[in-house]
Amino acid sequence: MDTQFDQAHLWHPYTSLTKPTKTYPVDSAEGIYLNLSDGRQLIDAMSSWWCCIHGYNHPVLNAAVVKQLNQMSHVMFGGLTHQPAIELGKQLLAITDESLDAVFFADSGSVAVEVAMKMAAQYCFEQGLSKKHRFLTFSKGYHGDTFGAMSVCDPHTGMHHKFSKLLHQHIFVQAPECGFEQAWEQRYLAEFEQQIVEHHESIIAVIFEPIVQGAGGMNFYSPAYLQQVRSLCDRYDVLLIFDEIATGFGRTGKLFAYQHAAVVPDILCLGKSLTGGYMTLSAVLTQRKVADGIGTAFMHGPTFMANPLACAVAAASIRLLLESDWQNKVMRIERQLLKELEVNRHHPLVKDVRVLGAIAVIELHEPMDWSAFQEAMVDRGVWVRPFMQLLYVMPPFIIEPAELTHITQSLTITLNELK
Ligand SMILES: *Cc1c(COP(=O)(O)O)cnc(C)c1O
Repeated sequence: MDTQFDQAHLWHPYTSLTKPTKTYPVDSAEGIYLNLSDGRQLIDAMSSWWCCIHGYNHPVLNAAVVKQLNQMSHVMFGGLTHQPAIELGKQLLAITDESLDAVFFADSGSVAVEVAMKMAAQYCFEQGLSKKHRFLTFSKGYHGDTFGAMSVCDPHTGMHHKFSKLLHQHIFVQAPECGFEQAWEQRYLAEFEQQIVEHHESIIAVIFEPIVQGAGGMNFYSPAYLQQVRSLCDRYDVLLIFDEIATGFGRTGKLFAYQHAAVVPDILCLGKSLTGGYMTLSAVLTQRKVADGIGTAFMHGPTFMANPLACAVAAASIRLLLESDWQNKVMRIERQLLKELEVNRHHPLVKDVRVLGAIAVIELHEPMDWSAFQEAMVDRGVWVRPFMQLLYVMPPFIIEPAELTHITQSLTITLNELK
């Protein structure tokens, strides 16, 4: 493989071409394994950034792609429709709350967030709520890399400082501080409540990631927040958007994280594992109220909207998930991660170890350069991609106990080498 070309000319996520970072050539992938060009096999403890829940090269998903490929890989969605989009739309409405009733297909998570923000804004403007012009969100959030999405990402760990002149100003309150199982106290929501009481007339919507804040800090928090925020949004007539791009499709132990709290957003963003990691696709679901409140054309329409290949593989992935014993698998992964990672709590560099569903986080006291750590993990046959002070894993749901033990042992040994 011409890795010199790669280093000289290809941008990778969050890199500079002036300081190329190490990249590992992959030839193929199968089940939970990445097959490197040098013959080594790595367990993908990242599920390719939350996506690959069923593992790679899955016969059922491959067959769905091939079947669709032989019919048509793409047609425009403007004025045309097709069975894969209709089937996937029906599935998404069937597995989410019955009040969610309309679907917009977009190309990626960031675009789903843009679409959700635009829909919320257009809804408000068409209701004559013309004073509304900004969003309310929590710090430590991550919603994507495009301008609208970036503007609601954490203002410190996000990219605000580089683009502040170009970003719309929104309202941020402190990230949820009450842990997932911690007892709820009203003071946790005091700042949020104050902001919504004072500024609701100018707030289009509240947007955040339910239960698990992902790339903005890997923070897990109490379902009580969702209930409290929902009731404040209802009281002050503010829309509620949940970004479940990372948490959707079983990752937290529920099919959707909002189900931990039995509250439903007005707008729901899905992406990442929607296609089982096969292709880029996202979906924005809305309640009827929002869809009906947008009486003029909603001005968004990606070229590859509802791409048939992506919709077909997404439909197959959802079927596969629902037919599998996913909930028990995720619970088993959770129990094993909790048990096997606990020893790391006593490591001097470690601040916290937390697990929810098929997500484990080892948080250090200080951020560090992880390149040597990553290399040592690769030598042990495990693929991880820690950032800042966060070492985290979210394996495919098909992982076997012995394979998961290989991940946790490798993490523990490699962490101990850091002392
Ligand atoms: C990854 C992610 C996004 C952005 O999705 P892309 O497909 O990378 O654009 C948005 N929100 C959350 C919560 C995510 O985890």
